[in-house]
Amino acid sequence: MENQTEPQVIPDAPARRQPLIDQMHQLAENGNHCGGCSGVCCTFLANSMLITPVEALDLKTWLQSQDRWNDDLIIRLKDCIKKFRLDQDLGDGRRSFRRTYTCPFYRNGPQGCSISRHHKPYGCLAFNARSPGLTEGGDCASDQESLKTLESEAEASHNQFLKLKHQWLFEKAPIPVALLSIIEG
Ligand code: SF4
Ligand code: SF4
Repeated sequence: MENQTEPQVIPDAPARRQPLIDQMHQLAENGNHCGGCSGVCCTFLANSMLITPVEALDLKTWLQSQDRWNDDLIIRLKDCIKKFRLDQDLGDGRRSFRRTYTCPFYRNGPQGCSISRHHKPYGCLAFNARSPGLTEGGDCASDQESLKTLESEAEASHNQFLKLKHQWLFEKAPIPVALLSIIEG
């Protein structure tokens, strides 16, 4: 672990997500896609996404590459944390009560996520429509099998490295909390 550096984590972000993207394409081929949905799963009505330090760093690095990691974004992240009280009762990210929140990267309306699918949280990619023609969710599920295939010792080690470096007290955190927790990274 001593020899690990953060840049090692980043370049394979798209490759790590590819199995989830392939699965999403397969669902879409059967008509089960999110194209006509308002994106309720990204709002406080249904979103309680938690991410790991590696996922946070993937996202932050992509935002930087798009010139979107700036003061405005920091304010938006802080506002989201305050509004939805995301900094309270985090626990270890597995057992604690999960708060719902409207993701700061959600733009109202269909296909409202403003993050590249190659860098967004795993859980976002794994959560998809299970019926055709959904407009307000209602028959959606997380593909736990595909998520499990992403688990690796290397990534667990990267997460541990980042947890120590950024003094995380939890395994996973809501997206804005996770991003601000690696702000110095
Ligand atoms: S990152 Fe995108 S898909 Fe995930 S919760 Fe935010 S807006 Fe939704
Ligand atoms: S269909 Fe389900 S998974 Fe797709 S955007 Fe709507 S609520 Fe989210």
